[in-house]
Amino acid sequence: MADAQKVKEVILAISEIIEEKKLYLTQLDAAIGDGDHGLNMAKGFGAAKEKLESTNPETPSDILKAVGMALISKVGGAAGPLYGTAFLNASKSVAGKTELDLNDYQVMLEAALDGVKIRGKATVGEKTMVDAIEPALEALKKAIAEGSSTREAMDKSVAAAEEGVNYTKTIIAQKGRASYLGERSIGHIDPGAMSSYVILKTIAEKF
Ligand code: ADP
Ligand code: MG
Ligand code: MG
Repeated sequence: MADAQKVKEVILAISEIIEEKKLYLTQLDAAIGDGDHGLNMAKGFGAAKEKLESTNPETPSDILKAVGMALISKVGGAAGPLYGTAFLNASKSVAGKTELDLNDYQVMLEAALDGVKIRGKATVGEKTMVDAIEPALEALKKAIAEGSSTREAMDKSVAAAEEGVNYTKTIIAQKGRASYLGERSIGHIDPGAMSSYVILKTIAEKF
């Protein structure tokens, strides 16, 4: 279960891990893009953290909304508005709730993925963050349907996201800057899929 305090802790933990992984994410992006993904993400989650500290939103939904707005307004580049939309959609999906359970997490992740797919017009297999998020959602749904515990379901979801990240190494980029490389994008991990995995893992560990 996650109340507003827990949701805030998760966002702060994401902001910390993204800061730690900034250089790595930027290196991944340097290989097939313009080498700013880590910087973009660190700037966005830094702004999200500041916004939470200055406005002190009090419900899970309001916290997620503040994060989404910060990501959309502070990050140039493709990923900021995509992640921003994901957080805004997640916010709407749990409006009015004070505590979030595993089913709520499924609803939020589904809303977040829909936001990314609609805004980015991307589907699985195009070497984007969708290749990490969609398998994570599918594995979560399956685990919940099978009656897995929260811990088990979270572990399965994160493992599926990690597989998705590795899968991006084998495919051609069809969206965003990496698509300019065509076949030369094969052999490289998609930076956005990696940042999605990092975020999903942090949520799963804290939830
Ligand atoms: P930019 O490419 O504008 O410099 P970033 O480097 O921050 O932005 O983000 C790049 C990541 O954004 C990619 O690795 C990919 O995962 C994701 N991305 C780019 N375009 C799309 C899209 N249309 N749909 C989904 N994800 C996308
Ligand atoms: Mg980039
Ligand atoms: Mg850029």
